[in-house]
Amino acid sequence: MVDVIDGHPEAGVDYPRTYADLLEWFPDDATCLEYLGRLRWPDGFICPKCEKTEFWKTAAGLWMCRACGRRTSVTAGTIFHRTRTPLSSWFAAVWFVTSQKGGVSALGLQRVLGFASYETAWAWLHKLRRAMVRPERDLLGGPGVVVELDETFLDGVPRGGSNLWKDKVSVMLAVEKRGRKLGRIRAQVSERPGTKQILQFATDVIAPGSQIHTDGSVMFRQLASMGYTHKGTVGMRASDITSVLPGLHLVASLLKRWVIGTLHYGIDGRQLPYYLDEFTFRFNRRDARSRGLLFYRLLEQAVATNPHPMRDLVTDRRRD
Ligand SMILES: [Zn+2]
Repeated sequence: MVDVIDGHPEAGVDYPRTYADLLEWFPDDATCLEYLGRLRWPDGFICPKCEKTEFWKTAAGLWMCRACGRRTSVTAGTIFHRTRTPLSSWFAAVWFVTSQKGGVSALGLQRVLGFASYETAWAWLHKLRRAMVRPERDLLGGPGVVVELDETFLDGVPRGGSNLWKDKVSVMLAVEKRGRKLGRIRAQVSERPGTKQILQFATDVIAPGSQIHTDGSVMFRQLASMGYTHKGTVGMRASDITSVLPGLHLVASLLKRWVIGTLHYGIDGRQLPYYLDEFTFRFNRRDARSRGLLFYRLLEQAVATNPHPMRDLVTDRRRD
């Protein structure tokens, strides 16, 4: 017997358009688990141990393989792992985070979900941010795409601890240009501004063979020997410095505005990487036809197969 909830919205096809949809579709853990299961196994359940596809659903909401008896949790190893809060509350949190253009503050989330503590709301937001960008995601660039690469400084972000760059944090940015349009971005805090760290960043986020534009600093010339086509326009010689890397300057100014406007400088520098992930997630999906699609994407990433499949193992009594 395969346990399927009749008439349940199908992940990959359906996503809530409104808050009313959300409440109606996901009233309890069972409906949330079913949706997450379809996100996790879009082509149907596959047992991680024996690769058979037939299963039972246990009362505890686990997928139990009919062939080998292994029980798999769809939430193990994800941000929802062993949460004591109902999944429907998590779904509501994901909804609030994704349905508002600039995101939601911890205080705002605390209010709408009725949490007793601010700290809980803050922790939830951070867990969700960690799911916003995955390391194994696609690389930027490719045929016909130019990637602009540079560092930008964010003012007023206390880094914590004693650091030379106390209130100034350097962020490395890579911005796709597809013709006149901007494509996707990647952003990462630079530990050592002005050093070769940005070359490492380039190889981490930009596909080999891509075309990269920079401000022509000496260091960037190495990109040509790293498998990229490099074009450097020296900023000093340009009449308008923003014309050198227009896409990158636009994204940098949006990032600065977001930090100031949405977050009111309330950022601990040590948390900045996660805020950059949120900014990246929002920017890369700015043209989504529905906010509900962002809800879907974030949940999808939250349950994406994690790099340590052994952690999926909840109980496996037959293991030898
Ligand atoms: Zn199995």
